Amino acid sequence: MDKQQIIDKIVELKTKRDAIILAHLYVPEEIQEIADFTGDSLELSRMAAQTDAKTIVFCGVKFMAETAKILSPEKKVLLPSLDAGCFLADTINEHDVKRLKAENPAAVVVCYVNSSAAVKAQSDYCCTSSNAVDLIKNIPAQEIIFIPDGNLGKNIADQVPHKKFVFWSGYCNVHNTITVKDVETARTLHPTAEILAHPECRPEVIAEVDFVGSTAQMLRRVKNSSRKDFVIGTEKGILFRLKNENPGKCFTLLSDRLYCPDMKKTGLRDVYDVLNEMKHETMIDVQIQKKAEMALNRMLA
Ligand code: SF4
Repeated sequence: MDKQQIIDKIVELKTKRDAIILAHLYVPEEIQEIADFTGDSLELSRMAAQTDAKTIVFCGVKFMAETAKILSPEKKVLLPSLDAGCFLADTINEHDVKRLKAENPAAVVVCYVNSSAAVKAQSDYCCTSSNAVDLIKNIPAQEIIFIPDGNLGKNIADQVPHKKFVFWSGYCNVHNTITVKDVETARTLHPTAEILAHPECRPEVIAEVDFVGSTAQMLRRVKNSSRKDFVIGTEKGILFRLKNENPGKCFTLLSDRLYCPDMKKTGLRDVYDVLNEMKHETMIDVQIQKKAEMALNRMLA
């Protein structure tokens, strides 16, 4: 089958399977083009919880499909590329969280959504990079164990100085590669541009940029800005949506290392195959699902 034939088959199968295709902003353009909805982790979580479709094809990485399954356990959630993982999520497991809780009995655990279902099940609250600061400000507890992204945790802690934090040393191996030198170079090469960065970047990088936000916050910022030039500090997949939504504006990546191999593993053929064979279904133990759902629902609430 050629590309158009595969797309036509996917459209046919979507109706037959009562399916919706959700795609993260970092996946390849050809997948974003056919998705029913594209967004960041928070938007995709909400969509997974609200859709009436019986089947969710989740084009992203494993923890995202798990999150969709946790929020919609009665639905079939299919992950087109089974080996699409996340370096950051894999830096911690449920035993690590149990140990942190034992060492810090007065603290509550706030878990970034980029984590496994088993880790979420050991956590009190989930958060995304969009809502982490607000969520932590509103938690009555004064001590927070923030997992697994140490950079994000420290960037949040700077905005909530009256609380005590325990950090995990995990990091995203895409955002963590950005350096202060990259920001300085961008300022020299693009003096009129606004420099935007994701809060998974190192704190010293965050201190140097003009705007810090999740992918959804970056999209809003650019759309509402009268500026013409932007330097983007997140995974390169976001450029597809930025360019589509802002035809007169110019975008440059903050570094040429902003490429997540796991996010690029899903192709059109993978989407067709999972819908055709109804395979790669995400399954989660019921006890884990129920506990993780509580942590996610506290965030969505
Ligand atoms: S970009 Fe970073 S946080 Fe996102 S999936 Fe890739 S490794 Fe994980």
